[in-house]
Amino acid sequence: MKKLAIAWNVTLALLYVLALPIYAAKWLRRAVESLFNLSELRKGFIDCPHCGFRNPLDILALCRRCGMAEFGSRLYCTTCKQVTKAFPCDRCTAAIRVL
Ligand SMILES: [Zn+2]
Ligand SMILES: [Zn+2]
Repeated sequence: MKKLAIAWNVTLALLYVLALPIYAAKWLRRAVESLFNLSELRKGFIDCPHCGFRNPLDILALCRRCGMAEFGSRLYCTTCKQVTKAFPCDRCTAAIRVL
């Protein structure tokens, strides 16, 4: 019975080792995707993942915390330093997660 348990543990360990490249590949893909998102951010546009509309970031945005309306970035308030992690798409109004 004990031998079986050891064999099972070895099988599990082997499975983890086999799964490692899959996790690594997944992690790599996510890293590349987030890098791609960042380059999109620098261009000042975010494509809506739901309808594909190109949302500009540099619009007159109203801060949800301090109520300040300003141009620059809709993701960042220069007055109260509030960082917005998601905003509604200009066309379909679905939330777009940015950060
Ligand atoms: Zn603010
Ligand atoms: Zn949309």
